[in-house]
Amino acid sequence: SISTSSLELGTTFATELPELALPWRAEEAPEPRLLVLNQPLAVELGLDPAWLRSDDGVRLLVGNAVPAGATPVAQAYAGHQFGGYSPRLGDGRALLLGELGGPGQRRDLHLKGSGRTPFARGGDGRAVVGPMLREYVVSEAMHALGIPTTRSLAVVATGRRVQREVPMPGAVLARVAASHLRVGSFQLARSTDDADLLRRLADHAIARHHPAAADAANPALALFEAVVAAQASLVARWMLVGFVHGVMNTDNVTISGETIDYGPCAFLESFDPTTTFSSIDAQGRYAYGNQPVVMEWNLARLGEALLPLVHDDEAEAVTLVTDALGGFRRQYSAAWSAGLGAKLGLTGAASEEPVVDDLLRLLQENHPDLTSFFRALTTAAGTGDREPARSLVVDLAGIDAWLDRWLALGPDADLMRRTNPVVVPRNHLVEEALDAATAGDLEPFGRLVEAVTHPFEERPGLERYAEPAPDSFGGYTTYC
Ligand code: AMP
Ligand code: MG
Ligand code: MG
Repeated sequence: SISTSSLELGTTFATELPELALPWRAEEAPEPRLLVLNQPLAVELGLDPAWLRSDDGVRLLVGNAVPAGATPVAQAYAGHQFGGYSPRLGDGRALLLGELGGPGQRRDLHLKGSGRTPFARGGDGRAVVGPMLREYVVSEAMHALGIPTTRSLAVVATGRRVQREVPMPGAVLARVAASHLRVGSFQLARSTDDADLLRRLADHAIARHHPAAADAANPALALFEAVVAAQASLVARWMLVGFVHGVMNTDNVTISGETIDYGPCAFLESFDPTTTFSSIDAQGRYAYGNQPVVMEWNLARLGEALLPLVHDDEAEAVTLVTDALGGFRRQYSAAWSAGLGAKLGLTGAASEEPVVDDLLRLLQENHPDLTSFFRALTTAAGTGDREPARSLVVDLAGIDAWLDRWLALGPDADLMRRTNPVVVPRNHLVEEALDAATAGDLEPFGRLVEAVTHPFEERPGLERYAEPAPDSFGGYTTYC
């Protein structure tokens, strides 16, 4: 039978990139208690859920036990935080335990909240139940929506009180990711002026995430192009569901193209591009509508880091990288337009009709609840009933004229049902579930996970998961 001692974890990151990998151990959790386990993900990873629920499995998930032969490491990286460069970030409260799966399907098993590391700076190295459960539920919702993301395998309460504004129950999140390579990893490697390290990092990233780049005439440039393409597609998907990441620093942008770091993230309700939720984003740098431009800026930082690998002549390297970065806007626009077309049940030439873009003006002027509005349009396409859509806007003449033009194109209601979620993790429901969980009641959290992991299903009894927050919920502020 499986036990921690028989679980094999790979060490390719630690072995190939020792300069970026600091061997470290988790701080002992005094009284670990499993709060939630992702059974389907465990099975997908070839891990036995019954074993993960056992004392032995929970010790692994909280960091109290390390499999034989594994080398847990804190990863070093740098990053631009809100535009300012921090030369030394790194996992201050997290560890890469090791890798699951073989070449071509390697995935990181990572702990967050596992105690101070040498990168902790002023932090306590810990995490608390609410935010770790938030990451669990939002990342699993994103996955169910078809959006590339890190996954959440488990949250284990540590049994320790953690000092925040008030003492909170501590927790560790076990996270699974294609990798934890970030733009900030490349920024750190570049800053060392160690050309060999930068080359090894690029080779590692290519082998792991973008293997076709290895055969390109210029592999480093091809890697950059692949990351640009992956992130253009990712941000378009965020925009189409109203996801606001909240802290798009370069250390929170992956090379794999997965969404990472669910701190102050939240979902848009009323459509408004200036929407921000994060308490630390007073300037609105990471507002909903800024996300594409910010991602392009972050990718420019990756391009800079890669310059020495792209061409020996710096001016030539800059030209090549700048051209490649130019692909971002084109690819983002194409992904956004195709995605918006699909949300409107239109494919092919119909998806390029002006009526698609004209919807944006309608959204900006009427700022309806984004998720409800597209489901209301789905109803209009399926049954001809326009009232649900009309009830969400103020400008009735505007919507009537727009509906006439759009319905004349014959939108595909089935495509719309598969494309427009009924349920996203709405902020008030997330808060309600996290508050209950922090107080010891995990039932609302379990129900929320169940609802958001079946986002396209209209199910009787689950109407409250489909509705926007009541006015009494007020403005929403997130903290990381
Ligand atoms: P984030 O904004 O979540 O991407 O975190 C930025 C940096 O702060 C990363 O290097 C984290 O490891 C570190 N960090 C965040 N919270 C803590 C904490 N409680 N203790 C130590 N380091 C932390
Ligand atoms: Mg981070
Ligand atoms: Mg974070």
